Amino acid sequence: MLALRKTRAAPGLEAQEVRPPAAPGPGEIGIRVAAAGICGSDIHAYEWTPGYEFMAPHMPFTLGHEFAGHVTAVGAGVEGFAPGDAVTAWPTIGCGQCRACCEGRNQDCQARRILGLHCDGGFAAHVVAPASHCFRLPDGVDAEMGALCEPLSIADNAVEVAEISPGDAVLVLGPGPIGLGIAWMAQQRGARVLLAGFDDTLRLDCARRMGIGHTADLAGTSLAAAVQACFGEKVDRVIEATGVTASITEGLSVLRSSGVLVITGIHSRSLELPVTTMVRNKHQLRAAHDTSWAAWPRVLALLADPAHRAQLALMITHRLPLREGPRGFEMARRKDAVKILLRPGDG
Ligand SMILES: [Zn+2]
Ligand SMILES: [Zn+2]
Repeated sequence: MLALRKTRAAPGLEAQEVRPPAAPGPGEIGIRVAAAGICGSDIHAYEWTPGYEFMAPHMPFTLGHEFAGHVTAVGAGVEGFAPGDAVTAWPTIGCGQCRACCEGRNQDCQARRILGLHCDGGFAAHVVAPASHCFRLPDGVDAEMGALCEPLSIADNAVEVAEISPGDAVLVLGPGPIGLGIAWMAQQRGARVLLAGFDDTLRLDCARRMGIGHTADLAGTSLAAAVQACFGEKVDRVIEATGVTASITEGLSVLRSSGVLVITGIHSRSLELPVTTMVRNKHQLRAAHDTSWAAWPRVLALLADPAHRAQLALMITHRLPLREGPRGFEMARRKDAVKILLRPGDG
């Protein structure tokens, strides 16, 4: 089968013919992948920017950690799944032994493996995943929407980390798929949301069509002016999803006293902070990364509503057969797309 693989600790990826995975072992299920999204992390791995060196010892392996499809086979001892079921998966697999794993926090396991970032993922026709990490898609949720569940769970977790309350003024920086998901999820929790981007007409237009209340393109205005125009005061929460380190200090400059700023981007640069100002402002600096078990049922429940699905589906701007994956990576890199889904079933 064709697979998009990371084979070397260097820029690029390879489209290679590989053997399909062996039959699922005990506790595992085999999935025929119908849709798999290209994520910002995949682009970082493709460009080989600093911060992804952890992948090198695991190469070669197949990328793709946002996938959904249909069960083809179940391993020994698997209950609750049968061939044909539409499923998606949380690709973060803990060791199962450490304290974090025992407490249900696989995202904190220091020996965790992520399908598509440490071992074979969904940019291929077939993938094998632990049944314990799979979720059956609700009625009406197709595989394309299923492939959005992973990034939406990441967005939901970021909003959870930000401790958003109804009525909060929330600034989201960065209109990529994660930023769009965060803005949408924050609105679901009753926040007043401003989503800011820089010279990013395509993705800010997408945000407006998804029902995001306020957007600002910082190519034409300053962040302070945009926040003032939208809220008339500093914001209660800032969630950064840009990966541009300067946006963190900029975000702090419009955050109210005792407000919370959550960093979700992957930053290849370090940050110098005005610590005394931060302390006097009692600014709470947090980080959100990956997601948690608790996020998945919340996301799946939101997707059960057809109106929600219609809004979120607007994020999917491109669908490509797997063999055109390298072109999809180039498009995502140039920000010519919002979410690109690869469809291994289409060849
Ligand atoms: Zn990702
Ligand atoms: Zn563990």
